[in-house]
Amino acid sequence: VTSWQGKNITVAGLGVSGISAARALAGLGASVTVVDGGDSEGHRARAAELGELGIAVRLADAETLPEGTDLVVTSPGWKPESPLFAAAAAAGVEVVGDVEIAWQLRGPDAAPWLAITGTNGKTTTTQMLASILKAAGLRTAAVGNIGTPIIDVVLGEEKYDVLAVELSSYQLHWAPSLRAHSAAVLNLAPDHLDWHGSMEAYAADKGRIYEGNTVACVYNVADPATEALVVEADVEEGCRAIGFTLGAPGPSMLGVVDGILVDRAFVENRQKNAQELAEVKDVNPPAPHNIANALAAAALARAFGVAPRAVRDGLRDFRPDAHRVALVDEVAGVTYVDDSKATNTHAAEASLAAFEPVVWIAGGLAKGATFDELVQKSAKRMRAAVLIGADRALIAEALARHAPEVPVVDLDRTDTGAMLAAVREAARLAEPGDTVLLAPACASMDMFANYNKRGDAFADAVRELAAENA
Ligand code: ADP
Repeated sequence: VTSWQGKNITVAGLGVSGISAARALAGLGASVTVVDGGDSEGHRARAAELGELGIAVRLADAETLPEGTDLVVTSPGWKPESPLFAAAAAAGVEVVGDVEIAWQLRGPDAAPWLAITGTNGKTTTTQMLASILKAAGLRTAAVGNIGTPIIDVVLGEEKYDVLAVELSSYQLHWAPSLRAHSAAVLNLAPDHLDWHGSMEAYAADKGRIYEGNTVACVYNVADPATEALVVEADVEEGCRAIGFTLGAPGPSMLGVVDGILVDRAFVENRQKNAQELAEVKDVNPPAPHNIANALAAAALARAFGVAPRAVRDGLRDFRPDAHRVALVDEVAGVTYVDDSKATNTHAAEASLAAFEPVVWIAGGLAKGATFDELVQKSAKRMRAAVLIGADRALIAEALARHAPEVPVVDLDRTDTGAMLAAVREAARLAEPGDTVLLAPACASMDMFANYNKRGDAFADAVRELAAENA
């Protein structure tokens, strides 16, 4: 166990995780300075609060390393090439993140970690896992990139048997000594490449999650890049690679047979009443990408020794967070689904794959993304597309290039009434049995405060439509 007494620690970033790290380390006797490039009123107020706890704060300078720093603790937003880290490297000072600190602060009999990363589905899978562990009667919580900062969880009063830990690629980058009980990489698609520098670097950071695993490394059979990371990882002797697939499972896999989530033993012992894990209809919602999430959660829970019945009960109990492929209503035989959280093209592609025929409502801030691949893969399921938001022309161009047969309504609007107009257009284009899907593939901030507000506007518009049809 590290002694923090008298250590000079520089915390990079005066945000939620930076403040949590600064408080925790100061509480353990370290001498802490928080540095931040900002200097707003909010920054000053937070600095004053920390000042009362004896924590120094330096504002308006994110670059110079304070004299005498022994260790830098960074926040997720800071890029690896930040000048502060170059200064640390030059001075031979180590840089770590909040997850590393939390890991080092665990007591000798602390709860093991079941860890989850991936480009999409992290939060959902982590919450599913926590639900399964709870159904098994274990004391647990979904933590990490969600909710309470992980340092606060580790230092808190509450006792846990096991933690379901969501980890971002940033957090993994800065957590060199983390050793999970078992871990899963759900999928790998280009994302955050501006931060990591390249796809290889991004994948390598994700792959860190498998290092030192003791029981199981869970990978996605449909995404060979995840399996490659398992092969490269240095794991404990006896640690197994477990795949998950939407098809029938091969050896050391979980999969789906006749609408039932099973592990390989089920296939081999079917005549002998081997136990199923759950049914596809127990997964909420039962969209393909979400069944994959459920299988990954089940694999981690099984690695921890959880019984099949708890997998089923936990999946049945699980309710996804709002705006993630959420059923809103059925109006005139058409189903309306809100996936406002699909803020990138890979997420939108996954939810489009779950519905056919589908009228797609999309658009917003593209964040530099291109839409060609998404359109190529999804156009055959589309009845029509309705576009709103600032960067809708990029989507319209991709549709015109790859799917000229799909009717497109370009609403040319970014005002608050645009969502109702979009839903009305979609209703006009849809036929009974179709799904109208809000999966914007873009961020929301051009028209809404956040993706929650965008999803709420969609649901309100559907309710208005339903009232008119009643
Ligand atoms: P994350 O925490 O990784 O951002 P979430 O669980 O919040 O992921 O899901 C975000 C969005 O990603 C969902 O609304 C859905 O559109 C999409 N999604 C969820 N799971 C998957 C998956 N396994 N593969 C691809 N897309 C997914």
